Amino acid sequence: MRIGRVLVSAKQIEARLAEMGAQITADYQGKDLLLVAVLKGAFMVMADLSRHIALPVDLDFMAVSSYGEATRTSGVVRILKDLDREISGRHVLIVEDIVDSGLTLQYLRRNLEVRRPASLEIATLLLKSGLQVVPVSVRYVGFEIPPDFVIGYGLDYVGQYRNLPYVAVMEEGEEPADGTPAGS
Ligand code: 5GP
Repeated sequence: MRIGRVLVSAKQIEARLAEMGAQITADYQGKDLLLVAVLKGAFMVMADLSRHIALPVDLDFMAVSSYGEATRTSGVVRILKDLDREISGRHVLIVEDIVDSGLTLQYLRRNLEVRRPASLEIATLLLKSGLQVVPVSVRYVGFEIPPDFVIGYGLDYVGQYRNLPYVAVMEEGEEPADGTPAGS
């Protein structure tokens, strides 16, 4: 497998996260906002999006895993790391890298809702168009993308490529020696 076509460039990501951050800043004025990122994939979105939110936010992290290392979600989610603190009465915004089937988010939403937050919304950098097998209401969407398997900007293929500053399609074939994306 190798890095294919670049779907969303570093510049596009930066510009869109600035817009989303401004929107979130406006929507949560005067509220006690807690950003919850889902590790590992969302670590970059969390770092960059939170810097565009001009409010005194609190950050927390969860780690979940769908079983196995396949490129498809099984729908069975395991919590590897839970939140450090309680969220009851707080305005929680889940920060995600990508919504594909929506199964992970459906599980997370249910898991967090029983803890009685004041509100619970979702922000995702990427949303795969038309692939949701369960309805998920995502308040902030960075980019809608086609249903290809993508890597970069936090997203991995068997643990690698998370550090790429852009989002690219994963493609069949040999990795070129210099690791540059195809067609760049
Ligand atoms: P969902 O439950 O919405 O199907 O997707 C859950 C998780 O699957 C995402 O948080 C992400 O970790 C992984 N995932 C879904 N689509 C992709 C993709 O195109 N590339 C990568 N690297 N991970 C994906």
